[in-house]
Amino acid sequence: MKRQGTTGGTEFINDNFALPTRYFDEYEFESAAAIGGNAVEEKKYKRGACSQCAYACKLPTRDEERGVETEGPEFETVYSFGSCQGVGDIVDVMEANELCDELGMDTISAGVTVAAYLKAEDEFGNAALAREVLREIATRETDRGDLLAEGVHRAHEELGVTDYTVKGMEFAAHDGRVLHGQGLSYAVANRGADHMYAGMLGLEYSGELDPEGTLGKAERLVHEENRNVIRDSGVVCAFAGDYVTDDRLAALLETDYEHLLEIGARVVARERHFNNRRGKDVADDRLPYDDEVPDLEAALQEYYAARGWNADGTVPDDALDSPTETAVGYGAVADD
Ligand code: SF4
Repeated sequence: MKRQGTTGGTEFINDNFALPTRYFDEYEFESAAAIGGNAVEEKKYKRGACSQCAYACKLPTRDEERGVETEGPEFETVYSFGSCQGVGDIVDVMEANELCDELGMDTISAGVTVAAYLKAEDEFGNAALAREVLREIATRETDRGDLLAEGVHRAHEELGVTDYTVKGMEFAAHDGRVLHGQGLSYAVANRGADHMYAGMLGLEYSGELDPEGTLGKAERLVHEENRNVIRDSGVVCAFAGDYVTDDRLAALLETDYEHLLEIGARVVARERHFNNRRGKDVADDRLPYDDEVPDLEAALQEYYAARGWNADGTVPDDALDSPTETAVGYGAVADD
């Protein structure tokens, strides 16, 4: 982490066929080494860290020849503006990273949306075109930019490409067709195809869970989701997670760990209720590659059962009852 931040895993992920390439047409990128951790480290010109963090994972990078300077790219940008677009030059990825920072765009959603466009135009690898399109997305001054500014879910039909989103959110890397527990997580996550919602990918890369198959993983998925709510609500850095043991998390927040998980479960249920009220249910817990993830239907039912939810993916009203929520003022949320 100190040397290469999150990009240090790029080649490992590629070797595990979990690095979506050329808008999900492929699972591995032949130029992964050219945009991975070593390539980023070569461009790094100083160390960077959040206050007092020993990990110091920040990546201030610079390329003097092209006059590009940025903070990053992190791994997901290496994927979204690199492998997913068929771009194998780290300076191109750095330049796109800086543009997204300047324009205020999320690099995953922007990068995957541009990748969808490059697929439609048969222009994979054209980094100059990617930057041009990115600027147009920000200004919406061209028809092309205006369309792509809507994201993949709304633009895919006009582009004539597959809708690689869940609940309208573009995919992170860590391919769910290979890491099946991560695939299940993408399907059920209330935010959509978000790799940070549960982090099953880490368990499957490490071998703690077998990446193959979805059945029998629901209980662990529920635990990870509940824990991540506490991590995010407590503003605990995800990357420093190795140091934040269950005991330390409980001590930090001055309560016991099981109580924290109960709060996490209520937050996930409340988010699900929010989605349910907007018409989302089991029909939206879907992947664009459902047929490539084994036993997904049965795994969804295992997940709902583990959560105590209905078989149609909705939250029973009594699952929302909570003295804690009433105490902090959320108990009286109106139907809409
Ligand atoms: S707090 Fe997190 S993001 Fe910040 S330097 Fe440390 S590991 Fe990196």
